[in-house]
Amino acid sequence: MNDIEKLIQIMGRLPGLGPRSARRAVLHLMKKREALLQPLIGAMQDVSAHVKTCTVCGNLDASDPCAICRDGGRDQTILCVVADVGDLWALERIATFKGRYHVLGGVLSALDGIGPEQLSIAGLLRRVEAGGVKELILALGATVDGQTTAHYLADRLQPYNLAISRLAHGVPVGGELDYLDDGTLIQALKARQKL
Ligand code: ZN
Repeated sequence: MNDIEKLIQIMGRLPGLGPRSARRAVLHLMKKREALLQPLIGAMQDVSAHVKTCTVCGNLDASDPCAICRDGGRDQTILCVVADVGDLWALERIATFKGRYHVLGGVLSALDGIGPEQLSIAGLLRRVEAGGVKELILALGATVDGQTTAHYLADRLQPYNLAISRLAHGVPVGGELDYLDDGTLIQALKARQKL
């Protein structure tokens, strides 16, 4: 396999890019070596070298703990639990939530064989046990697996006497938070329902 074919094959593994889009993207990069290819290589090297997973919340950032965990201006008593970093980004984009996050790294799924030990649930329990958290928002989407995970967590966290809520049903079934428009996401957060 030559170099270009190899690059096309790697690019084709990215979400949203099939072989055809990968070929188009690679061709475009070859035509724009100075303007696009070189900056892309640099940006990828920077991300690869500097970005790490926050050991507190699971966010991706250049520092550990991440900028959100270190921000003293954010409400330490509210934790928003999300499945993935993409969901955290979506919530940060609407700039409505002023607490901190906990990224589970997925949701429970019998079909995919994902149980509690595959997710950052022990870490969440440790954070709650450490004290200071009074409210928990489960922002896990409206899929069956998301709701199963929310109920599982509500059960596990019951002994800690927290106010537990989940996002309101403005979230479309099967919807990932990142696909929601900002208005819908703000409404879902504001009208969150007690579990
Ligand atoms: Zn963090």
